[in-house]
Formats: sequence, structure tokens, C-alpha cells
Amino acid sequence: MHEVCHRKTDSPLGGTLASAPIDSDTVIEVTAQPGFLGLGQPTARAIATRAAVGGRLQRTLLVHGPAGAGKDAFVDDLLGLLFCTDAEGSRRPCNACRGCRLARARSHPDLVIGSPERWREERAQGESIVGAARRWLLNTAGAPVAAERRVIVIEHADLANEQAQNVLLKVLEEPGERHMFVLVADEPSRLLPTIRSRAQPLRIGPVPRDELVAWLVDRERLPADQADALARISGGLSGTAVSFARDARLVDWRRTAQQQLLDLLSRGTADRFGAVRDLLDAAASLALEAPPADDDQLSSAAQRAAALMVVDAWLDLGRDLLVVRAGRPAFAPSRELLSGVEAAAGRIGQAELMRCMRRLEQIRDALLQNAAPRLAMEVAMLAWPSVHG
Ligand SMILES: [Zn+2]
Repeated sequence: MHEVCHRKTDSPLGGTLASAPIDSDTVIEVTAQPGFLGLGQPTARAIATRAAVGGRLQRTLLVHGPAGAGKDAFVDDLLGLLFCTDAEGSRRPCNACRGCRLARARSHPDLVIGSPERWREERAQGESIVGAARRWLLNTAGAPVAAERRVIVIEHADLANEQAQNVLLKVLEEPGERHMFVLVADEPSRLLPTIRSRAQPLRIGPVPRDELVAWLVDRERLPADQADALARISGGLSGTAVSFARDARLVDWRRTAQQQLLDLLSRGTADRFGAVRDLLDAAASLALEAPPADDDQLSSAAQRAAALMVVDAWLDLGRDLLVVRAGRPAFAPSRELLSGVEAAAGRIGQAELMRCMRRLEQIRDALLQNAAPRLAMEVAMLAWPSVHG
């Protein structure tokens, strides 16, 4: 009964490279069962549903949470709720009407989707990103053609620079009667406080492990032990878990990358810098749906997505080292690496490990703000502790 074609998940890559574009005639089988189809998020669900049914929705919603948490799936549900035409409000999203179907396929005529990446790509010659953002926002101002309102989704809103955010703020300050904005962000603190204060926050977070396991068994048809393993390594983030479930290469890649990083603990700077290219190339080959036309010319966006994948796997490894150091190996998700993690954890000081983790978090932020991927990785290599003997 859960035959939903769930073709897009929050990528664990922190970017959109791995998600295929959706064409308007994508066939989506939807259960006739009404309600949200995503997993968990009871608070965000309740806020959105209550406000929608009561006609008290704010004009700007902010769907936020870590990469891989399932924000895209939640936005799908939210769009269903907003575009559903079922006469009975409490049945929305009914998942059967045309409004629901078009909303979930993201091809509703009153749905507009943009992002800072798209503004960058769609710049006219000589146009700045801010100019492109302004032009795009002006184009969204038209009246709805089929629904009560036009819904404007801005993905990765937190990656817009300050000037572009100011342009957005102007639009949010003078909302059209029949326009609604849905901002999607990994890190809301990167948004202007004046934007945040205008938006109803809807937080998407990790879900309890047993719920995630049951959902993976049901939706992804995974055997229970495999579902359990994925729920562990994804840290309860449903989008990440689904990406892992659909692409076994991601799980293998992650294990290999973490093993490589463990090995580098006992290596010098030259070996560490030498490994940067391997790590980035392996991640990039997964981050891209298709290899780049020019082999040597990985786009900077692909390189950044690859570097983010590595840093995320690295941070997870650091957390594993910390919990094993604290004598709680049962909480370390990477069972396959456990012996290597245990051996290393005993030889690294906790303060040093914590310092390294903070550095990795900063590097992750820097990458999201367009830092050079290779350089960022080299800085991370220098922060990685040294273990001798
Ligand atoms: Zn409906």
C-alpha cells in the first residue's frame, strides 16, 4: 500500500547534485490514504496542519534541519497540504486529487521553485547573482492560475548571500495576498534575523531509530538487520538513510573513506595531502549522476559536494571515536570499523579529538560558504590527530 514513488530525498551530500530533475510527466502512484507520507516530524506536521486547516498559515514558512533529515519529503507533504482540493480540510493532503498529485510531482502550475544555485546558473550575461535573484522574485509575483495561492519554494535559502537575502526580505515584507513562501534551509542561523523573524519555523530532525528501522523495512523493502545498520549510520536522518538504502555504493564508499582516514592517523603530512585527491575523486564519482563531459574539469559545485561528503563521514568517524573513548562502543554506529576505531580511540586524547571536531565543523561551514574544496581538505588533514606506534 505504500507504493509511493519517492524520487527525491535530501541528499547526504548537502547538495542537489545527486537528485535527478523531475519532469512534469513523472508518474507517481499515490496511495489514496490521506495524510502526510513522510516519516515522523510530529511537531512540524502538527503546526502546519493546524494552521492550514484553521486558515491561519503564515505567509512565510521556514523548513529547516540538517542535510539528510528529510526536508524534501516534508516539503512534498506540505505542498500536498497547500494544493489539496479536498472539500474537507481535515483530509488534506488527500493524496488522491489532482492538486495533491501535481504538488507531489512538483509540477503544479502555481508552484515556483528556486534556489541560489539556480539563480547562479540562470544569470544573464553580466548579471550578478543578486540581479538574477531580483529578476526571479519579480517573476514569481503573478497571480495564481489554478489554486487559491501561489507557493514559492526557495531551496537552500541559507546559501544565498547577504545581498540576495536582502532582496528576498523586501519581497517577504510586502507579501501578496495570494502568495506563500516556503524557505528550506540546513542552517537557519545563516539567514538574516529579519527573515527568520518573519517565518514560521518547521524543524525537521532525526527520528527515533526503531521508527526509522520499521519505515525502511516497509518502504524500502530492506531486511531488518540491514535496515537497522542503515538507521545507525544515518544517525536517525531519514533522507540519509534512504539515500544509503538506494545506493549501496554510498555505504561502501563511506566505510572505505573512514578506513582511509583511520589509516592516516599514523601518517605524515605528505601522505595525508596525497590522500586528499583520492578521497575527493571517490566521493565526486558518487555525487554526480553522470561523469563530467571534460574529465579533468569537475565543476566546483561537484568538488564542493564531494568535500562535504568526506567531511560528513569524517565528523561521524570523530563521533564514533569519542563514544568509544567514553567506553560506550555500543553507541558507535560503524560496527565494521569498530576494532580499528577502538585501537585508535585509546591513543588519541579527548581534548585533541574535540578540537579536531570543532575544526571539521568550521570547515564544513566554510565549504557551504564556497571555500576551495581541496584547500579545505588539506586544512582538515592538518587538524586530524597524529597517532604513533
Ligand atoms: Zn488532495
